[in-house]
Amino acid sequence: MDFKYKILGYFLREKSKADVHLVLLKWSTYYKDLSTINQEIFKIRTLIFIKTTRFLSDPNFYVSPEMKIVISSAFTQVTFGLKIVTFSKFNTIFIAPSSYTYKKVNQFFDGDVNIKTSRVNLSWPAVKRGFEFSDDALNLCIHEFGHCLIIENHKRKYIGIFNENNLERYKNTAIYSMDQIRTMEHSFLRNYGGENLMEFFSVSLETFFEKPDEFSQKLPKLYNSLAKLLNQDPRKKEHPKLI
Ligand SMILES: [Zn+2]
Repeated sequence: MDFKYKILGYFLREKSKADVHLVLLKWSTYYKDLSTINQEIFKIRTLIFIKTTRFLSDPNFYVSPEMKIVISSAFTQVTFGLKIVTFSKFNTIFIAPSSYTYKKVNQFFDGDVNIKTSRVNLSWPAVKRGFEFSDDALNLCIHEFGHCLIIENHKRKYIGIFNENNLERYKNTAIYSMDQIRTMEHSFLRNYGGENLMEFFSVSLETFFEKPDEFSQKLPKLYNSLAKLLNQDPRKKEHPKLI
């Protein structure tokens, strides 16, 4: 194990790690399939994310430690191959008891990333659905955290979250695939991904993690560029990290 995680792990209580382990065995297919050493790293990364994030909710809606672990695990999953262990901007997550709406907006949301308030909003029933069905290419937390990563990467001045060349390569492949979605040449990725590059990234992320085999067969170029960008390949279930 990386020396960094050995040190960090030393400061975390065994009880906290055991709690994370039990919750994730129940909720996260990605975690369940990891090797023991990778599970250890995953637990540490998830606990760091929890400790550096503020979880808010309506006063009459209790957010349990289990809910925090489940939500945080989506971040750890997406960034497992990267150096980033928590957000520097989106450190507040609001959990709503159901779908919600905004004043003057005639639409209900299950989740959104609010750039003005630097807040991620999630509705718990939709979060739950995302984890209960782990192979339908729908996971709200992965989707919204995908938006946060792109925004934070863009705002960072010096060292970005992603390698610039890998991001450029991914973008070029994505633009080509988006055109295909728009002209309905293939229906593998959700049509919503054809909206814009930002949505396309999040929709591809959900599919990348929940249908990796099919994704790599149907859109190998896009799959490989995403694997390079995230430095992981979810088909390698025990050891997804590439380098
Ligand atoms: Zn979106």
